[in-house]
Amino acid sequence: MPGKREKLNVNLNLNVRGLAPSATLAINEKSNEMIRQGRTVYKLGLGQSPFPVPEQVVEALKINASKKDYLPVKGLPELREAVSGFKYRYQKIKSSPEDVIIGPGSKELIFILQLVYYGDLIIPTPSWVSYSPQARIIGRNVNWVPTSPDNNWRLSPERLELICRSDPDRPRIVILNYPANPTGCTYPRDRLKKLAEVARRYRVVLISDEIYGLLHHKDRHQSIAHYYPEGTIISSGLSKWCGAGGWRLGTFIFPRELRWLLDAMASVASETFTATSAPIQYAAITAFNGSPEIEQYLFHSRRILRGIASVLVEMMRDMGAELPVPDGAFYLFPDFGKHREMLNRRGIYTSSELCSALLEETGVALLPGLDFGMPPEILTARIAYVDFDGPEVLRKAWQESPEGELGKAFVKENCPRLIEAFEKMGTWFSGL
Ligand code: PLP
Repeated sequence: MPGKREKLNVNLNLNVRGLAPSATLAINEKSNEMIRQGRTVYKLGLGQSPFPVPEQVVEALKINASKKDYLPVKGLPELREAVSGFKYRYQKIKSSPEDVIIGPGSKELIFILQLVYYGDLIIPTPSWVSYSPQARIIGRNVNWVPTSPDNNWRLSPERLELICRSDPDRPRIVILNYPANPTGCTYPRDRLKKLAEVARRYRVVLISDEIYGLLHHKDRHQSIAHYYPEGTIISSGLSKWCGAGGWRLGTFIFPRELRWLLDAMASVASETFTATSAPIQYAAITAFNGSPEIEQYLFHSRRILRGIASVLVEMMRDMGAELPVPDGAFYLFPDFGKHREMLNRRGIYTSSELCSALLEETGVALLPGLDFGMPPEILTARIAYVDFDGPEVLRKAWQESPEGELGKAFVKENCPRLIEAFEKMGTWFSGL
């Protein structure tokens, strides 16, 4: 008979105490719970690509399933070469395979970079949900920089200058994500140049999170690395453009000047994840080397995302929401501030309360702006417009209407759940 079990001491690291699970995963769990109870839920919370992994890449994974050895900590040399070539093909950014490190998702790489570089984190409000909790776990200061809707919620060079000027020699990491999660907006070239000037003046380490770069709806993504090459680390991976979030493969491309940071990251990687999964790395070579089929896959992915966005933005605006037209990715970031008075009358004062009420009363799952660093009383939410049958919609666009814009009729016919979700929200807002 086992003896009575003693209660163990609970002694969490203070930086981790009180940290909730990632907001995105939490809403997904709540939605799943509602589905188990037989409720209809429109899953617009989790930002996952709706599209399948391209067939050739899946085939490459099958062929390499038996690869079982640990790989070099910085990644498979052929893959590092493919990643470097890929960046040159799409962006004309020159790098060598030695500048590349592969990790189990760019999220992990961003975390390790924040760990090895001692500096404050600067991010615009709103920003992706994980940057700030990562900094908190490590014990770094986070500087949230306010932005405004007139400026499509983008970081302004003037604001960045003000922060840096207050203590010019302070080490800092700035993360710039474009096309952005949660807004879908990107930066025009002149804005990137101005931001690059400030970054150079204060020698900040700039993480350019370009994970949605290939999902720029018009294929016009531009990297800030053109204008601040010596201080920019380009972050990307397979998760979004290749529909392979669950494969867990991320990439960083460093400038030569920051090779010491890459090496420091590799030391930490060797003591933590060791190396990214071998079969996935082998398969990723096919993805990054590209092919005419992968080009087509991307072309149609962009067309679909662009077509859906234009229909949904209009529906959102009809509901009285204010929002920018996204340039890329699969997100919308509406501001429901115009409904504030009516919402207040129903006891809804914050973006979280708004999202809870929407989930409960319409079954539509969104993420509150609060999770992206917005002040709680600003009534914004992120919509991930991915609740449609990605493989089937891709097949239809590719085979049945391969040219031109995909308009309202296509979206209504092929993405009925999205339309239904938006109609439900419309009815809810008009009944306030
Ligand atoms: N950066 C942004 C802006 C994201 O939206 C995500 C995923 O949602 C990531 C990074 C992390 O991607 P992964 O770790 O799958 O490479």
